[in-house]
Amino acid sequence: MRIPIPLALLLLVLPVGAWQAKQFPVKILRISALFGESRGDHFHSGLDFATPQAIYPCDEGEVLFASDAETNPNRPVVGIGNHVIVEHEGGFRTHYMHLQSGSIPKNLGPAKTGESLGFMGDSGYSMGAHLHLVVEDTKNGALVNPLKYLPTLEDTTRPQLAGFLAMVKGNPRPFRFRDWMTMHWRGEMTLFLFAWDLRQGFDPWKFRTVNADTGTSVKRVSLRVDDRLLREYDFSVLRKKPKGLVVDPHWSHDDIYGQKFNYRMGAFTPTEASHTFQVVVEDWSGNTLSEYFHVSFRQ
Ligand SMILES: [Zn+2]
Repeated sequence: MRIPIPLALLLLVLPVGAWQAKQFPVKILRISALFGESRGDHFHSGLDFATPQAIYPCDEGEVLFASDAETNPNRPVVGIGNHVIVEHEGGFRTHYMHLQSGSIPKNLGPAKTGESLGFMGDSGYSMGAHLHLVVEDTKNGALVNPLKYLPTLEDTTRPQLAGFLAMVKGNPRPFRFRDWMTMHWRGEMTLFLFAWDLRQGFDPWKFRTVNADTGTSVKRVSLRVDDRLLREYDFSVLRKKPKGLVVDPHWSHDDIYGQKFNYRMGAFTPTEASHTFQVVVEDWSGNTLSEYFHVSFRQ
């Protein structure tokens, strides 16, 4: 068949690696933890789903690996538990972890969106039944945020900024900024944002109790001072570096979550009598929060 020229051109300009998942791996959609959150001393590198149910591949592909302790006792259950790895086009792999023992079908053929890979469980290191879904981009050895590749979550609620804070040396309590306020300090301070994503039917306070000292992950968070970018974190990708996983270009877990507030936005020393800060927080459904803080600094 001859491909008409405009279509051929379209095929040429399609970006490499523009893989998109066709579906969520569960039918009852209840997300219980997000990619990029803090887990005390490391990033949570997947997307968690709750409510025990059958698990489906996010897209067609080849089953690369399936490990079920019940049907293959030679494979001990380790941290990730019983799991299946599927390879998709563009060098993307999806990992389905903590599956129920004995639920992974024997001799899995090619992955098809309508055929279950197993049942949600709590095998391996897990506190209660959940699916830990990891999406890996093998072209650059990175773990990518599953929400970037899954269908867009229905959500019209903006992320929430619970606090814009500063810590100064010698004072254990954080200082809270408000718009048009005066801070009686002109020395160095470390700035923090306390922000999370909000979705319909999602209670951040309940969520935070469940996840103790963790925050809820957003797509991107940035802080500008007088239109100059002070710090930005983009939770699209976690890259493997010798010191562990990092957010681009080099922010480690402790750089971002080093103190109990998410997110640590770097050091700042006022150089003028007043500065204007802009906080921008984006979620994965296209909602953006933008807030300004005009702050005067006096001795
Ligand atoms: Zn998880």
